[in-house]
Amino acid sequence: MKRRDFVAAAGAATLLGACGQTKDCATGEADASAQTQETINWTMATTWPPGFQGLGTGAEYLAEQINKLSNGRIKVKVYGAGELVPALQVFDAVSSGSVEMGHGASYYWKGKLPAASFFSSVPFGLNAQEMNGWLLKGGGLELWQELYAPYNLIPMPGGNTDIQMAGWFNKEINSMEDIKGLKMRIPGLGGEVLKRAGGTPELIAGGEIFSALEMGRIDAAEFVGPYNDLAFGFYKAAKYYYYPGWQEPGATLEAIINKDAMEQLPDDLQEIVRTACLVANTDMLAEFSQKNSEALKILVEEHSVELKKLPDDVLNRFKQISEELVAEQGEHDELSKRIYQSYLSFKGLSLEWRKISRSL
Ligand code: CA
Repeated sequence: MKRRDFVAAAGAATLLGACGQTKDCATGEADASAQTQETINWTMATTWPPGFQGLGTGAEYLAEQINKLSNGRIKVKVYGAGELVPALQVFDAVSSGSVEMGHGASYYWKGKLPAASFFSSVPFGLNAQEMNGWLLKGGGLELWQELYAPYNLIPMPGGNTDIQMAGWFNKEINSMEDIKGLKMRIPGLGGEVLKRAGGTPELIAGGEIFSALEMGRIDAAEFVGPYNDLAFGFYKAAKYYYYPGWQEPGATLEAIINKDAMEQLPDDLQEIVRTACLVANTDMLAEFSQKNSEALKILVEEHSVELKKLPDDVLNRFKQISEELVAEQGEHDELSKRIYQSYLSFKGLSLEWRKISRSL
């Protein structure tokens, strides 16, 4: 194509693009749409306590990115858990359209959609980098969108906590014998693994972990990683900090968008919303990488926290149970099976690559 033709084609494309969203399509005249357009106000409900480091602030960062990239054409107001709807009602609130957006984690919806866990984290599953590989390049996001489509929702990756820690323990773990009867705060599939291994998982909200540990109501608790755990002061209530975070090796967080609200936006704003989610996805992982390393140093050097690795026989047993349990999440229906197969085949390939590439 000659340069002049290309410029003409580009001009026509711009006009066509603008036609979808401006008032002057009949005349074909371009208007100063960005300046004169009304602001679209969106509301985002989140599953995080207001201002919660890394996760809540990550949702706020996503809203800011949408505001900035759209030059103020969309303004998103963020609400913490309980401010507008309780944490575990975010999915329904966005699905029904009572809010346009949500921020949370897909494994919160596993009661409704067991296969949703694959899009956040499963025990001994993909790490953060591999989750991005599967979701963005390996067909994962398309399956996630298919899973949420009947609920009028569009999911996007909207952050990642990176690998977590195995948790805070007041009891030393030397073998599987020490797992028997262990009372531990550990939600989700990780909790189910502990139960099948002979332990007792406890459901305790983040804000109540400290007192439960301190009062001896539980022997152990997993939360997130050094960044959040330092802020919650768990080192004052438990002796040992165990690794690795087998239960959540790279938890992807989700941004969910009401499909009708998305489709009412002109194409360029839809792209801006999707782009902002990807920017927030990258930004949160960068934040966790930096803050976790900083917080670990503070925990060890200033608070004399004792780090311990879970014994290999415990990890091997957890892994065996996890594989069975994870397979069950992919058994429910035809779509769950396709999701599990896609996840499993990506994991199989990436483990081979991980083995040789991380051998430094
Ligand atoms: Ca966790």
